[in-house]
Amino acid sequence: MTEIHGPPINVHLPDDLTIPQFFLDSAHSLRPKRPLGVPWMIDDKTGRKIGYEELRARTHGLANALSMRYGIGVYIQHMADYAPVVWAIHRLGAIVSTANPAYTTEELVYQIELTKATTIIAHSTSLEVAADAARQTGIPYERIVVIGDSPLRQFANVDELVKEGLAARQHYVERKLRPGEGKTKLAFLNFSSGTTGRPKAVMISHYAPIANAIQLALHARVGDTDRPRDKQRFRPGDLVSACLPFYHIYGLVIIIHSMLYCGVTLVVVPKFSFVDFLESVSRHRITHLILTVHGMLVPPIAVLLCKQDIVAKYDLSHVHYIVSGAAPLSGELVAQLADRFPNAQIGQGYGLTETSTSVSMFSPDRKVGVVGSSGTLAPGITARVVRPDGSLAGVNEPGELWLKSPALALGYYNNPEATRETFVDGWLRTGDEVRIDKDREIFVLDRLKELIKVRGFQVAPAELEGTLLMHPDIVDACVIPLPDEYNGEVPMAYVVLRPEVDERVRRDPAEATRVKVEIIQHTAENKVAYKRLAGGVEFTDVIPKNPSGKILRRVLRDRAKEKLAGM
Ligand code: AMP
Repeated sequence: MTEIHGPPINVHLPDDLTIPQFFLDSAHSLRPKRPLGVPWMIDDKTGRKIGYEELRARTHGLANALSMRYGIGVYIQHMADYAPVVWAIHRLGAIVSTANPAYTTEELVYQIELTKATTIIAHSTSLEVAADAARQTGIPYERIVVIGDSPLRQFANVDELVKEGLAARQHYVERKLRPGEGKTKLAFLNFSSGTTGRPKAVMISHYAPIANAIQLALHARVGDTDRPRDKQRFRPGDLVSACLPFYHIYGLVIIIHSMLYCGVTLVVVPKFSFVDFLESVSRHRITHLILTVHGMLVPPIAVLLCKQDIVAKYDLSHVHYIVSGAAPLSGELVAQLADRFPNAQIGQGYGLTETSTSVSMFSPDRKVGVVGSSGTLAPGITARVVRPDGSLAGVNEPGELWLKSPALALGYYNNPEATRETFVDGWLRTGDEVRIDKDREIFVLDRLKELIKVRGFQVAPAELEGTLLMHPDIVDACVIPLPDEYNGEVPMAYVVLRPEVDERVRRDPAEATRVKVEIIQHTAENKVAYKRLAGGVEFTDVIPKNPSGKILRRVLRDRAKEKLAGM
């Protein structure tokens, strides 16, 4: 098989606009008009409608106030203000690096140091960690901005800043771009571990999410006026449950930017619980479920939707579109979902942080996606399936997926080596093993890269290995993914103990259990919850490595699988 191409992009992709200039200020040909009264967002709890004027004013007010005091912004919690905060920072020409509000101080410090962030914008519930991280990285408290009630006067508050900024005359000069500059001007530094090593800051330009929103809209046939309304996937008046975390690329690009661009209203759910989610879907008569990432809407929620009896108590008949991404969704689950949601189109999408999200999606012409397929390429994307020897694989033959897309990231920030390995001659090596069939359906078969995905969350084995090596009893470690029904995968560690400890645990099974529990606790104390070693700890004499010292993870992955099979 040679290269395969998604459909052509037949509209202009602006490369001279920042993200807020495109999404808030410009009228692009595909963007459908929202009828009067159709809001941009709805706050799930209060039902408050948030319209264009309000979002635009908050963006301006905040940009105006921030420009008087601050430099670059970072780290926010999931809520309606997320978008204006991001856009205000972009209006000033600064870069946003989003972080998980559940991070530990150590994780946030790592991100701040890597991105050289100078300002932290944090929700009041994450303030303690934010303040700790600020202290450790030398960010003064005057550069912490709080969303929600601030316990201390010394921290500025987003609401107050918006008021202050709106009351003052404009102090800032909005960042404008020269033609072509959108392709290189950084908008986001989002985190991904790529194919190997610790998490890295992925450099995403202003152009990339704009291009990706247009790719998604074209793929979904938004703006195709000849198409019957029920065959255009997104329309003004549709409501999507925006309960994906906005710090991850799916929430940030697909939900905030692409869905708003397609005229869909976001129902913003700050905290997820399954029953609240069902109530919200039913109360707001949600039409679209984007079952992507992170504990909430990855396959596990699909499992809950299929298997929990409580679901039957809610009227979910208005849901007419369900897509799942970030991790595989089995054919069985698709079939069960189709039973529960007879009115819905159901299928998968596939994407990566490095492609600013959307690469493929099930076709809008299909009621249910092809079983096991992640759909077909979005417009403007070219794919190759590459054999280990570098030659191109044939139809249906497995190989690594390489991609070209206008929405490709620019590389890893301050990491030329990782950039060179992953971004090769304009192609992105995805590190995913796929096959593509004669109908151009893409099947993700396995992950060749080291990444572990727990409920869609990225876990970098190298990061956990670093934490394990800080434990005084451990001399070497290797972390691998273990298949898990609920989470998709969970991290499991093989560790080599110091000889004295090793001898003790060999003699005494109770001591072995105690040491394992202590190691699990050690990682749990230092890392956000989904990174804990839920797959357990095994002792081993040696971590297998190749002559240049690279861990041979596959050997231990196979050993773990054999052990699981024998249980
Ligand atoms: P992230 O950058 O966190 O979005 O992770 C991207 C990775 O998630 C991809 O390289 C895949 O390994 C995995 N992934 C995304 N979508 C799917 C899917 N539909 N099926 C299987 N794996 C997926």
